Amino acid sequence: MKFLLLTLVLQVSVSEAVPLATLQENDVEFANKYLINFYGHKVEETPMIKMKVKSNLIEEKLQEMQQFFGLNITGQLDASTLQMMHTPRCGVPDVQQFSTFPRRPVWRTHSITYRINNYTPDMKQKDVDYAIQKAFQVWSNVTPLKFRKIDAGEADIMILFAYGAHGDYSAFDGRGGIIAHAFGPGSGIQGDAHFDEAEMWTINSRGTNLFLVAVHEFGHSLGLGHSNDPKAIMFPTYRYIDPSTFRLSADDIRGIQSLYDDKYWLISNLRPQPNYPKSIHSLGFPDSVKKIDAAVYNPLISKTYFFVDDQYWRYDERRRSMDPTYPKLISKNFQGIGPKIDAAFYFKRHYYFFQGATQFEYDVVHHRVTKRLKSNSWFGC
Ligand SMILES: [Zn+2]
Ligand SMILES: [Zn+2]
Repeated sequence: MKFLLLTLVLQVSVSEAVPLATLQENDVEFANKYLINFYGHKVEETPMIKMKVKSNLIEEKLQEMQQFFGLNITGQLDASTLQMMHTPRCGVPDVQQFSTFPRRPVWRTHSITYRINNYTPDMKQKDVDYAIQKAFQVWSNVTPLKFRKIDAGEADIMILFAYGAHGDYSAFDGRGGIIAHAFGPGSGIQGDAHFDEAEMWTINSRGTNLFLVAVHEFGHSLGLGHSNDPKAIMFPTYRYIDPSTFRLSADDIRGIQSLYDDKYWLISNLRPQPNYPKSIHSLGFPDSVKKIDAAVYNPLISKTYFFVDDQYWRYDERRRSMDPTYPKLISKNFQGIGPKIDAAFYFKRHYYFFQGATQFEYDVVHHRVTKRLKSNSWFGC
């Protein structure tokens, strides 16, 4: 079977008498195209002699794809692999060395403009405006970035809906398959987000939800690549979840905060505070601290908590110095939290701590966990 598949991929003619079982020739062609588009698989006019080499390459690419999606790593085009390949998804490649933005560029300004170049006829204009604005807000809530809509001229992020080929050498493919793509930060087409007009764009669970896809694509516009964490919004495939309960995963927050610097800023009630970001190196950490897992500002007492492994430090924003007697153990002083946390933010007298698949709402005043939330999965299964 394996041999059969590989020869088919090579488009070597197969005897009519050989049974293909459930695998169809168009499945193989489809899979081949998928690996070319998203995993940097290269098609060459390889003579028959090099067939073995080429077969190994395809098997490797299949394994790479299976590993990314958390499938059984068989190197074969099995049913679950094929099913994943048929799931509607983003057009940006999954492998870093092949991705549109391997050097992870970022915007140099924190004030970013966007323009909706044209509107999909699937939705009311005001609903498109709202979905787009809300999608940007998801990212501005956890970074110092600000997004401003302009209605004329060239914006940093140009948003358009288009059918098929639309002038960027990445043609859309009709309904399903690739539903959108976006380009990493930079000038010209860079930063832009394109949505396949062949999809039925909606504000709800029918068709393809514009808000959900826009959050993902704007992640690319800001410099994020695909995540292999199925709970991350940056997972490559589309899955509907009610937008009213949407939360970024810890992986998304860590990703975007790592791009917008070894700097830190104060975010209070989902608003970045003035005069930030600042470098973490001026705060007085010992040299042993190389990386901060999470930071959260408590505006009630003007203190910022920095979480590093299983410990935390507390910084006094008024005195501009680290409080004495730190670090302390996270699990000892934040009951029910720890040993480590992945990300944190403050909103309305609560901290929100992310730990793997779980998110904790923590009452700042009464020092206790008030809610355990599942980090929602938006893309992928
Ligand atoms: Zn994507
Ligand atoms: Zn495009």
